[in-house]
Amino acid sequence: MTLESIQKNYKNFVTHLECGLDGDTYEAGVVHGLSKAGRPLLVKYDLEAVKNSVSKADLLSRPVDMWRFRELLPVTKTENIVSLGETVTPLLNCPNLESEIGSAKGSILIKDEGRLPTGSFKARGIGMAVSMAKELGIKRIAMPTNGNAGAALSAYGTRAGIESYIFCPDDTPEINIRETTTQGGRVFRVNGLINDCGKIVGDNKEKMNWFDLSTLKEPYRIEGKKTMGLELAEQLGWQVPDAIFYPTGGGTGLIGMWKAFDELEKIGFIGSKRPKMIAVQAEGCAPIVKAYEDGVEHAPLWQNAHTMAAGIRVPIAVGDFLILRAVRESGGFAITVSDDAIEDARTLAGTSEGILLCPEGAATLAAYKKSLAEGRIGKNEQVVLFNCGNGVKYPMLDTSEYLDKDQPLNID
Ligand SMILES: *Cc1c(COP(=O)(O)O)cnc(C)c1O
Repeated sequence: MTLESIQKNYKNFVTHLECGLDGDTYEAGVVHGLSKAGRPLLVKYDLEAVKNSVSKADLLSRPVDMWRFRELLPVTKTENIVSLGETVTPLLNCPNLESEIGSAKGSILIKDEGRLPTGSFKARGIGMAVSMAKELGIKRIAMPTNGNAGAALSAYGTRAGIESYIFCPDDTPEINIRETTTQGGRVFRVNGLINDCGKIVGDNKEKMNWFDLSTLKEPYRIEGKKTMGLELAEQLGWQVPDAIFYPTGGGTGLIGMWKAFDELEKIGFIGSKRPKMIAVQAEGCAPIVKAYEDGVEHAPLWQNAHTMAAGIRVPIAVGDFLILRAVRESGGFAITVSDDAIEDARTLAGTSEGILLCPEGAATLAAYKKSLAEGRIGKNEQVVLFNCGNGVKYPMLDTSEYLDKDQPLNID
């Protein structure tokens, strides 16, 4: 499926990299971590040249995967692409959910990222980062994870012939740990949270000769996650929705989509309209929401982080200011939901639409309902909710019933 795009050679339009905080520039084509200011580096392209080299119509003949946007991606040599089949994910309409909630017809769309390799949207970011690692000759990668990023690193690393060392909190969903080891990565359960795991990577990377693939500590995961925005705009006929609800941990996807929309406008594919970017966090771990409400640019470490939505249990984010900037510039907001609301939303999506959300995806539905109730979103606004992982990976409520084979069947 992806072979066609892999075999075709595309021009590369990367000009340089830029510090997201102070705009300092860095050379492309060499290994980078954070900027000198200790902040994420963003990849810059010659967008004028991209504009002259690709049209919307060109895309129609390309395979339906994330590599279809090659001119806006950093990989230079096609043979460096490490792919497990990063299919374009469906944008599901939700008529039953709309009538259940009382929203207008056509207002709710769920982007189901659970269809991607390794069962989550981490495949986009990690697939891109590992491809770039291969291109740059990196042999050993380490990262902290809440589960899905590690699973993706393990899979893509193995495929690329790159060793992976993965550190996760010891209460990471069991299935994530098992899938990760099964795909060849070395996994260490740590008696701490993701930031503690990140510290282990940071403190030992020199000694162990590890490349640090922590969220936003290298430049290319954003470029992979950016494809969500490119894809979404294309799926909506080169329009953007009124609002995007994004379950925010490190914020890679939110930052990436915001970058995607800017690049799409500069190459003339979309206009100046932007969706409200809505960062969704759990009540038990909401550093970005607090910073948003406090009107500040950085989000201090959240103490005693806890939530059933492991993917968004991120107490501190190195790209905090980029998330907050996108949220504010877009006219969006940041909002918390309780674990109970997450569980209710998962049941609601399952029983009304037959859509199995992961807890983080359910958090976006819970946040949408809460935003409607608070009047922050209108019933007629078109919203996209991100179901970022495959629901089957997570523990679920058991509401089955017992049946005795020796008794007559009695179902009312
Ligand atoms: C990683 C992850 C998130 C958070 O994504 P970011 O882009 O890092 O904010 C949300 N949900 C799931 C299931 C994840 O794996």
